[in-house]
Amino acid sequence: MTTTFLDQSTDGDSRKDAENTSETLSNLIENTDYGILRKTPNYDVKIQRQRTHARPPGEGRPVFIICCYDPRTDPAAELVLKHINYAGLFLQVRVAGGRAIDALRSLITAHYMFHLEVIAVVHHTFCGCTSFTLSTISETLAKEDNIHINEEILNGECIKALTIENLNKSVKDDMKLIRERVASPNAKILGFVFDIRTGELIPIE
Ligand SMILES: [Zn+2]
Repeated sequence: MTTTFLDQSTDGDSRKDAENTSETLSNLIENTDYGILRKTPNYDVKIQRQRTHARPPGEGRPVFIICCYDPRTDPAAELVLKHINYAGLFLQVRVAGGRAIDALRSLITAHYMFHLEVIAVVHHTFCGCTSFTLSTISETLAKEDNIHINEEILNGECIKALTIENLNKSVKDDMKLIRERVASPNAKILGFVFDIRTGELIPIE
């Protein structure tokens, strides 16, 4: 039996619509090649890129912000925008600790689309990632849930960002990682620590 998003339809036309919709969705889902975006009505990724890249600096290119997924850091993005006196579009990736390694894929796609000029990384005080060590988390997960962090991860660069021992260093390390991996030479890489006690955003040079 084929399940569609419109399974509740009862009349003939609706059923036919449902079948058409299902077929269209199937095509969209199956054909995830480069051309898929260009098939979106009134949207052409090449034109979009040309227009975006042609805009003067600061106009129409979103600021990219990487921040911890801890909800206590919700105000951080707005503070970053305020700090740089910018009121336009921004893109935000929120991951554990706000570590840049998790955001590289999203950074690459955003840079491709928008030619990013400003990328900000925000870590924060009392982050969960400062509350355990690598041995603590690996031994505890193994003991409690029989989850074993595999060797590939343990020996990879992700593991270096799993814990935070020093906020000043972790922010600087992530700024360096972004510069080396995805940023254009002219892009500004900004780093901050957000103090959840005071609500202050502290720039890291
Ligand atoms: Zn955190």
